[in-house]
Amino acid sequence: MDHNNFDLNARRKLLHERKRQRQKRFRIIILSIPLLILSITITVIMLNRNNTVATFNLAIPKVEEKEIYTVCLDPGHGDWDYGAISPNGTAEKDITLAISLKLGKLLEEDGSFKVIYTRATDTMDWIETSNDSLKERIKISKLCNADIFVSIHCNYSSDSNDVSGVETWYNPSNDSSLNLAKYLQQALIDLDYTTNRGLKSYVPGEELAVLELNTSTSALIELGFLTNSSDEKYLTSDLGQSNCANALYNAIVEYRADTNE
Ligand SMILES: [Zn+2]
Repeated sequence: MDHNNFDLNARRKLLHERKRQRQKRFRIIILSIPLLILSITITVIMLNRNNTVATFNLAIPKVEEKEIYTVCLDPGHGDWDYGAISPNGTAEKDITLAISLKLGKLLEEDGSFKVIYTRATDTMDWIETSNDSLKERIKISKLCNADIFVSIHCNYSSDSNDVSGVETWYNPSNDSSLNLAKYLQQALIDLDYTTNRGLKSYVPGEELAVLELNTSTSALIELGFLTNSSDEKYLTSDLGQSNCANALYNAIVEYRADTNE
């Protein structure tokens, strides 16, 4: 009997203990559910917030940063190298520098161009020969990874002072060089200050190494003949230089838009 009573009591105790354990587990589960829901909700909110921040950060550069386009401007000659000299003493190196600086200023003011000059002053003491000069100019263009390289020159004629006109040289092995030359030449022709001598394709091995060896899309402009008094007058005037710079600026903007389409 005692033995049975003991069994019964022990069994009751055991059942009671098991019931208590079940209730405890149930309470824990019931209490955990809101906590679980709360933590899931917080996680979702934080993830969304992080996503929002990330998207926001990514969106900023797209809106504010303009894509930079590098233009290497090469004012022909310089320092001891005068280039062509007119009967009046006008030196090609001064005209090319003046127009290049005006053009560079317009490009910089635009805000979406980076301008690199092969020279921005009349000093070139780091160069000893014309050949070094050309190689050095190309090196500058390559180092700055220029999108385009525009070399600016003036012409001369030993035959006649009547010869006048603007011409633009391009690299025949490069279609974009021809396209760039077309835009530059047309913009200058539209100014109507001289005759149209057209586009010229350089002959490999001749003096236009700035085109032949250049890794950037390049063109070389001969703005006019310093031996022709009408061309000379226009190219030495402040208005003429500003007009040329404006025309070339617009041509570069149009060429860039054309090639980005
Ligand atoms: Zn020249």
